[in-house]
Amino acid sequence: MTSQTLKTFLEENLQELKDNGLYNEIDEVQGPNGAKIQIDGRELINLSSNNYLGFATDEALIARANEATETYGVGAGAVRTINGTQTIHRELEEKIAEFKGTEAAIALQSGFNSNMAAIPAIVGKNDAILSDELNHASIIDGCRLSGAKIIRVKHQDMDDLRQKAKEATESGQYEKIMYITDGVFSMDGNVANLPGVIEVAEEFDLITYVDDAHGSGVMGKGAGTVKHFGLQDKIDLQMGTLSKAIGVVGGYVAGTQELVDWLKVRGRPFLFSTSLTPGACAACIEAIDQLMTSTERHDKLWENGRYLKKGLKELGFNIGKSETPITPCIIGEEKLTQQFSKRLNEEGVYAKSIVFPTVPRGTGRVRNMPTAAHTKDMLDEALAVYEKVGKELHIID
Ligand code: PMP
Repeated sequence: MTSQTLKTFLEENLQELKDNGLYNEIDEVQGPNGAKIQIDGRELINLSSNNYLGFATDEALIARANEATETYGVGAGAVRTINGTQTIHRELEEKIAEFKGTEAAIALQSGFNSNMAAIPAIVGKNDAILSDELNHASIIDGCRLSGAKIIRVKHQDMDDLRQKAKEATESGQYEKIMYITDGVFSMDGNVANLPGVIEVAEEFDLITYVDDAHGSGVMGKGAGTVKHFGLQDKIDLQMGTLSKAIGVVGGYVAGTQELVDWLKVRGRPFLFSTSLTPGACAACIEAIDQLMTSTERHDKLWENGRYLKKGLKELGFNIGKSETPITPCIIGEEKLTQQFSKRLNEEGVYAKSIVFPTVPRGTGRVRNMPTAAHTKDMLDEALAVYEKVGKELHIID
């Protein structure tokens, strides 16, 4: 290393994180990320992945990815606007638009990139963003990057939204005002009140932006939270990922043709970062095709979600107020939460702890993500481990 300054900076900061128990050791999964995973040679029931519908390991998706790789190559060879737009990219975008019920869609390399592209393309320094206080990090970063005035709105509080929309409008300081929210909040599993949002948005002519990373494939019989509320014609930007329920990688924004045309000339990650691989595009098309023709996986996901929730509740755990299959087990104190997760792991269940600063202090939780790929036997086995460890740590009686 040439720079002594960098060396000191890294050493000091890494040590500080380690001393405070904040250094995150990354687990290595030795094989596919399915309902069961192997870590350190041990097989564990996996309740921590976003592979909600089990598509990540689906044979039809793998076959489509391989086929497209043979046809188009492993890489797109350029950014979309040079010559990295292959037929498969157009086909994916048309498929997403059909799936979302919009005129058009733009596909990007990730959900994170989609927020980085779309938010600054729509609002800038003369504008304001009203942002739910529990929005995802990629929304927060996209908002910061835009240079717009960021106004935090109390979580899901429509009165606060109306009040702040009114103040921002009456101040006359902003050319445009946008409201942005997660469709499904992944820490608690609650769903955004989009009908309430639209009421306020119509009153104050707000631009509406929904990040439906956790709602797509899960809500609205698979089509997402916006479809769940029948608001496809009202929400201006429907952003989502191809990495969670769709099981692959990538992100998108769906909306009008004009919106997509604009994002294709102003979305910087679209303009300056190489396109999605052809194999990923093809696998996503296959997943969306399956989702549009059958609700089997979606129904199984919800059935498993209900089963796990009922089981944990009957054992006496606090599972919060989730409205989706996402099932938090709220433990409270941070150290106990981490210890609980560690013991679950030792007993064969992989369920990660989530503590401050990701969630408010004192609301540490182990978050469970049941998927369509879990069997009843796996969930029963997980519940037996929860009972054993919960009693051992005096979390339940
Ligand atoms: N938005 C939300 C709400 C998310 O939870 C995530 C993923 N953690 C993203 C965006 C980013 O999506 P991706 O992983 O596809 O980059």
